[in-house]
Amino acid sequence: MSSVIKNNNGVLARRLSRQAIIQWADTIVTVGGDAPVRVQSMTNTDTADAIATAIQVKELARAGSEIVRLTVDTPAAAAAVPAIREQLDKMGVHVPLVGDFHYNGHTLLKDYPECAQALSKYRINPGNVGQGAKRDTQFAQMIELACEHKKPVRIGVNWGSLDQDLLATLLDKNASSSQPKELREVMAEALIQSALQSAVKAEELGLPGHQIILSCKVSAVQDLIAVYRDLATRCDYPLHLGLTEAGMGSKGIVASTAALSILLQEGIGDTIRVSLTPEPGAPRENEVIVAQEILQTMGLRHFTPMVIACPGCGRTTSTYFQELASTIQSYLRHQMPLWKKDYPGVEEMNVAVMGCIVNGPGESKHANIGISLPGTGESPAAPVFVDGVKVKTLRGDNIAKEFQVIVDEYVKNTYQRK
Ligand code: SF4
Repeated sequence: MSSVIKNNNGVLARRLSRQAIIQWADTIVTVGGDAPVRVQSMTNTDTADAIATAIQVKELARAGSEIVRLTVDTPAAAAAVPAIREQLDKMGVHVPLVGDFHYNGHTLLKDYPECAQALSKYRINPGNVGQGAKRDTQFAQMIELACEHKKPVRIGVNWGSLDQDLLATLLDKNASSSQPKELREVMAEALIQSALQSAVKAEELGLPGHQIILSCKVSAVQDLIAVYRDLATRCDYPLHLGLTEAGMGSKGIVASTAALSILLQEGIGDTIRVSLTPEPGAPRENEVIVAQEILQTMGLRHFTPMVIACPGCGRTTSTYFQELASTIQSYLRHQMPLWKKDYPGVEEMNVAVMGCIVNGPGESKHANIGISLPGTGESPAAPVFVDGVKVKTLRGDNIAKEFQVIVDEYVKNTYQRK
């Protein structure tokens, strides 16, 4: 089940992994093997509020999230899950839901069998399933319920909640070693061992290997890369990637992109999530858009037509071209849910919006459609290029609308389903 992905720079060999199937109704999301790298997200509503949660899941799915995870932390949250599923199904949103369990998952899954059934996957954190002697029993209960309901499981280790007994054992062993390792290396080993030992236990308890996905999340870029490189050589389970607690704004985006893109370039990673802390009032879907943009700019997948825009400089003294670039990008993203049904392949379209004659015509000719707006001192004319050929020159106050019409016509003429 190895696979190969072509990107702009050539060919990347994907890491050999098994394939897991995450399903709800007729929606089947394959993970691992030759499946594309999947985009995941997570809600931040109170799961007990079924309506608010269903609305947010719908928005995340509409933005392109292929799997959505929910916190299931209380009896009220577990009781709400079937209602959330029902609301989504009524709205025609069949995106698989994953239950995120800590501390009491064994009880909630047992006491709320409709919740256990409505979820498409369970996330189990081995560091948070229980203390001491209870840990193995409660882990086993969750795996047995996953087997009973035929659900896949992500064994998701996080260094913020690492199994302390395992860490203590490895630290003791390290302290008595003749060549002790640094603390961060021991922690990395504890993360990996926690995931692998839990996966072995889960298989011993009857969960098929192809229903197991692993993750080992940390919050530092170099640590994440080191942990996943090591983990990928030690198992063939599909791997979920994410830099945990990536942070806010550009820091969160840059850190996630730096870590994930290096691993993806090495063929490591079957699903990704970008864990952004939302700015107050910012839409939750931003994490989905960033994840898609990582995959698309690397040439691994295509989700929505991309706008190529120059940064602007002293030759663009007005904000007009920035506004046009932003308007066109929003328009393309907004159209995609409709376009993807009728115009297959449109997601690979490139649109250039450039600020002056220096690079404008050249970059526009390389795109499917491009417009070169007039810079300072140029005559007020905006040549438009389609597939490398100048087809029109736009002038006046309606350039944005007229350009949008040209884009619409190009989409219809080029990508119409035969
Ligand atoms: S294309 Fe023109 S406006 Fe845009 S950055 Fe280059 S020189 Fe400046």
